[in-house]
Amino acid sequence: MARILVAGGSLGGLTAANLLARAGHEVQVIEKAAGSMDGRGAGIVTHTALVDALRRCGLPEGEALGVAIPGRITLDVQAGVLGEMALPQVLTSWSRLYHLLRGLLPAGVAYRQGVTLESVAQDAQGVRAATSAGTLEADLLIAADGIRSAVRQQLWPDVQPQYAGYVAWRGLTDEAVLSEGTRALVFERFGFCLPPAEQLIGYPVAGAGNRTEPGHRAWNFVWYRGAPAPLRLAELLTDADGVHYPLGIPPHRVNWREVAHMREAARRLLAPAFAEIIEKCAQPFLQPIFDVVSDQLAQGRVALLGDAAFVARPHVGMGVTKAMQDAVALAEAIAAHGASPGALAAYEAARLGPGREVAERARRLGAYMQSCGQGASPLARDARTVMAETAIDLDLPSPQAGARPATIPA
Ligand SMILES: Cc1cc2nc3c(=O)[nH]c(=O)nc-3n(C[C@H](O)[C@H](O)[C@H](O)COP(=O)(O)OP(=O)(O)OC[C@H]3O[C@@H](n4cnc5c(N)ncnc54)[C@H](O)[C@@H]3O)c2cc1C
Repeated sequence: MARILVAGGSLGGLTAANLLARAGHEVQVIEKAAGSMDGRGAGIVTHTALVDALRRCGLPEGEALGVAIPGRITLDVQAGVLGEMALPQVLTSWSRLYHLLRGLLPAGVAYRQGVTLESVAQDAQGVRAATSAGTLEADLLIAADGIRSAVRQQLWPDVQPQYAGYVAWRGLTDEAVLSEGTRALVFERFGFCLPPAEQLIGYPVAGAGNRTEPGHRAWNFVWYRGAPAPLRLAELLTDADGVHYPLGIPPHRVNWREVAHMREAARRLLAPAFAEIIEKCAQPFLQPIFDVVSDQLAQGRVALLGDAAFVARPHVGMGVTKAMQDAVALAEAIAAHGASPGALAAYEAARLGPGREVAERARRLGAYMQSCGQGASPLARDARTVMAETAIDLDLPSPQAGARPATIPA
């Protein structure tokens, strides 16, 4: 039994903690955020590999993860239907997965919130982590501390997030406040809208209290819009009092003027159903889109996992699945090689390639948005291609291959 310290108590860190504790290791998780983590994230697309990882963590058979939908629809600005595609999926949310994984943690796992990892030192015997709660010793340190990973910045300072040139406006709108027409047209679908050099996607998720019955769900939207750095990006990341948040603006600080501009643009550029969803969203927020690509995932007794290792733009809908696949590979490598630098080297060998591939695929899908404002005409993206490529389960046959009907049966 080894002592394993996990830095970062979000979905990647929690999956690793579950798997390693179930394998008999003494696991401690430290999470920088104090207090409730509930307001985080929004919708998450599930994939076969995500469900597989949850099962390994002890997810009971038959446990519902979220809202099941039959397929996809793309609308133009006049609300005309540009395309439909049958593609059954289950959409869940960050909060649902977080509570599941926390609930599944075996007794004895210490989950310590409000503790920040500051730096790490290691020798042949183990690691010593300097944290806001003092020094912690372990045999291995797993850094699941996200896009701004303190561990990655210390050990691989050259690997920095690269801004993609656009942001995602996001939000959740309660089903109950939507008009009947909007509910009937898009609510139970994965919806798309493709203004030039922009893209809106969205889908239903559980509503407040994790309720999935009709009338109590919410629609999760993500609207990608160009925001060239430094000026336009800086404006968006500055609140109404003039405070600039270069690393990301908290949802409740987003400037109300920017929200008003965004809603006005929605009325001009998006199908009326999507504009209504955005209009009725109580608290839209925004996240700049970044790429992170690592060349190494392990150094001695320290390994990177999830967004700390690779950030894939959200078009692939794979960030959480990838973090969970990392955790599965890590647990398997430790089971095979013991809690040793050799295990972490085996983990790196298993996950460097897939991490690169997912990040590269996400970049390709996002190139449509990047063609905005650079003198070139926007890349052509037709509804069918976008629906067939966005947030699909790569373990299943491609919808383009004709494995599924192209349109939703009436
Ligand atoms: C617009 C958008 C839409 C997305 N949609 C999807 C989707 O549909 N499907 C999907 O799978 N993914 C999606 N993602 C990506 C997904 O959210 C991330 O890939 C995923 O959350 C990564 O999990 P993680 O555990 O690696 O890191 P994170 O969730 O970033 O967690 C890192 C944790 O570490 C903590 N931390 C940070 N520094 C320290 C420190 N020094 N010490 C201790 N703790 C620390 C943080 O507080 C945080 O809790 C989306 C992302 C965006 C931006």
